[in-house]
Amino acid sequence: FGNSGDRSGTGVAFTRDPATGAKKLMGEYLINAQGEDVVAGVRTPSPISHLHEQMPEVYDQFVEIATRLENYFRDMQDMEFTIEDGHLYMLQTRNGKRTAQAALQIACDLVDEGMITEQEAVLRVEPKQLDTLLHPQFDAAALKAAEVVGKGLAASPGSACGQIVFTAEEAEEMVKSGKMKKVVLVRLETSPEDIVGMQVSQGILTVRGGMTSHAAVVARGMGTCCVSGCGNDNDVKIDEEAKTFELNGHKFVEGDWISIDGSTGNIYGEAVATVPADPGSGYFGRLMGWADKYRQLMVYTNADTPRDAAQGRAFGAQGIGLCRNEHMFFEGERIKAMREMIVADNTEDRKKALAKIMPYQQGDFEGIYEAMEGCPVTIRFLDPPLHEFVPTEEADIKLLAEDLGKSVADIKAIIAGLHEFNPMMGHRGCRLAVTYPEIAAMQTRAVIKAALAVQARHPEWTMVPEIMIPLVGEVKELKYVKNVVVSTADEIIKAANSDMKYKVGTMIEIPRAALTADEIAKEAEFFSFGTNDLTQMTFGFSRDDAGKFLGAYYDKKIYESDPFAKLDQTGVGKLVKMAAQLGRETRADLHLGICGEHGGDPSSVEFCHNVGLDYVSCSPFRVPLA
Ligand code: PEP
Ligand code: MG
Repeated sequence: FGNSGDRSGTGVAFTRDPATGAKKLMGEYLINAQGEDVVAGVRTPSPISHLHEQMPEVYDQFVEIATRLENYFRDMQDMEFTIEDGHLYMLQTRNGKRTAQAALQIACDLVDEGMITEQEAVLRVEPKQLDTLLHPQFDAAALKAAEVVGKGLAASPGSACGQIVFTAEEAEEMVKSGKMKKVVLVRLETSPEDIVGMQVSQGILTVRGGMTSHAAVVARGMGTCCVSGCGNDNDVKIDEEAKTFELNGHKFVEGDWISIDGSTGNIYGEAVATVPADPGSGYFGRLMGWADKYRQLMVYTNADTPRDAAQGRAFGAQGIGLCRNEHMFFEGERIKAMREMIVADNTEDRKKALAKIMPYQQGDFEGIYEAMEGCPVTIRFLDPPLHEFVPTEEADIKLLAEDLGKSVADIKAIIAGLHEFNPMMGHRGCRLAVTYPEIAAMQTRAVIKAALAVQARHPEWTMVPEIMIPLVGEVKELKYVKNVVVSTADEIIKAANSDMKYKVGTMIEIPRAALTADEIAKEAEFFSFGTNDLTQMTFGFSRDDAGKFLGAYYDKKIYESDPFAKLDQTGVGKLVKMAAQLGRETRADLHLGICGEHGGDPSSVEFCHNVGLDYVSCSPFRVPLA
């Protein structure tokens, strides 16, 4: 059928434009041809509108059928047809694939045409598709010509193109001096001290790491494109000192162009032009409005700085579920005070250093409270192992020694003393506050004073600061730290003649906390599921290293997807569900949320809704997805 002469043919058509969503029949056909001739591209097909002139009766009948099909399926149709001697045959119809932009417009138009409800419209847009509207993308034509030279984990969406730099300092220097306009930071892995360099980079590519490693989590928070763990499946050599990087035989030096796609994990060894993010016309806002109207879960954001907070708020976040404020310790002079605190060998010195950190923290918290306009803000207390804050470069160690009047050898000995074989299971989280309660006391002071100050400036808001104690596994350790918080907070609130309320809660991120959630809830006024650590500790594999072997697990069909990206509902989810129930048995009004990276993953969000959490909290750019 189709190739029996000039009154026959074949074609493909969409009832609406799958690229833009415009309401008009789009398609192509070939006279005297079969389907394969269209697909093979040997002949150039004609636009469907020409059929109107060539075979008006067939065209009219096709339009009539297309309309009928769309009305029946109540969605844009992708149809294939054949004409045999002036007789039209429909071969196939299905809901058409579409770009994010088209998905939004079609959903809105179908509501306006009375074909679907607002709720259905929300369900018509694939959440992950929104990423393409919220982040820069490669120019489609430029991408076609580019060669993929390697692949890593799609750790933070969007596309980036820039000149390679190997250290965060270089990134900062090159961009600030204008020597390079756009840089891509290529590193073995990133650490908290790379924060400023990450901020000025178009994209971040790391050799090591997984979906919840530092680079991935921080890049997602910034809305910056990131491909992590490219060393897992490729032949990679990196020498940050010599400033060279080799990927599957392609050699790069500082200043070479590279392009990365954080939505697919693809790496291109050349400059591929990008187009800026474009959430489009009013369709995005309309759809989000409907989502807000019908959803029951609240959506909070993970935000470490006033800037992130404002970004999350702009996307509609109703609060902050996690402020990893330690990320702010690296800016400017702060790190000095932090290091002074860490190397202090007695409580007196530690308190002195903490007193220097306290005004920075208070200022940051005030900025965050202001940005959130009275919405709930959960500040998590210091969590990372202290070794993450100490200098690694000889010059920096020297400087620190000079600053503190200690010998280089002394400082080195202290740093060596912080070494742990398993830092993620080591001296971190509330364990820091148990050993050094003065840290928790300082952070409480900063939180409460900031809230009082903002309350005074904004009597129209009701400030109820929320303090979150991380990595709790035993109710008594929570109680110990909570006592420090409560005694410090009450004293400040009383001295200020205020009746401000505050809450103390915990993260559920250690399996033991989930197992004993009924006990934990006696002390915790809220739970926030830290599913990054909970996944790490439930599976017993490291969030930073699992990328190395997970590939083999997908190949062998043991796991389908990365449990650090998509919540393992069977195992980790069971702990979440159980802890939520146990917690509410003790405290019926226990406020429950999630702040691990899963809080912005569509299927995990659905799970959170189903097990009765009150909110999900995710990085600002994932708020619309959530
Ligand atoms: C978590 O563990 O899920 C969490 C949110 O904390 P972090 O990622 O900072 O360890
Ligand atoms: Mg954690």
